[in-house]
Amino acid sequence: MQSEIEAAQSESFLRQQRFVNDVSHELRTPLTIIRGYVDLLEIYGAEDPELFKEAVTSIKNSAQNMQNLVESLLFLARADQGRQPLTKLPVDLDDLIKKFVESYRSPRVKVSKLPPCKVLADGEFLKKMFAAFLDNALRYSTAAVKIEMTTAKGAATVKFIDKGIGIAKEDKEKIFDRFYRTDKARTKLSDKENSVGLGLSVAKWIADRHDIKISVKSKPGEGSTFILTIPTI
Ligand code: ADP
Repeated sequence: MQSEIEAAQSESFLRQQRFVNDVSHELRTPLTIIRGYVDLLEIYGAEDPELFKEAVTSIKNSAQNMQNLVESLLFLARADQGRQPLTKLPVDLDDLIKKFVESYRSPRVKVSKLPPCKVLADGEFLKKMFAAFLDNALRYSTAAVKIEMTTAKGAATVKFIDKGIGIAKEDKEKIFDRFYRTDKARTKLSDKENSVGLGLSVAKWIADRHDIKISVKSKPGEGSTFILTIPTI
């Protein structure tokens, strides 16, 4: 019979194997794109300005995707090793959300009236967490995305509401797993778009460090609402 230690070792080995497999897979697409365009540029680049423009855009996008992947991986690696320091200070949540939304400069993002509210948090991490929800809402829908905030005793509720592709019941738990993407999301997004299935893992880590609860309401084809319950001070 397998001892507990052996079982844990083989579980950790399997996890590591899956991880290497996932990372290699995610790096392969942008690298193939870059390689393909460099080969084309080598042959036709000098005399085809259209191809040159297209190649530069695609190579830039692919490089950005790889950079985002590596940054998320480093973030999670530091988090796993307890080397991701947070500096919690009193933060005006309404102000932070207002500035966060402004930074998007997107007419698709609509925000409700923001009641004044203070939380004890690392502001930069909160923005990183909000970005994961907002980027997804914008990416998986085409209509406007709403951000709503309400306050009650001891907690603020922040909702990210989209009318996009939605999430099936069986996927709801899994979307916070590393590298998990639903089939619908995979088919909707082109290779140009930056999606590796790590955004929600990072967001969940930040939420846990701030005692923030996340719940998801969604119907395939109708849209999704991510609801964050944030303790206030
Ligand atoms: P990704 O970078 O692929 O968006 P995330 O970890 O942020 O990775 O999300 C994991 C998966 O959860 C997505 O690939 C998508 O399948 C699903 N998902 C997340 N947010 C939404 C949303 N607002 N609408 C539909 N699907 C979503």
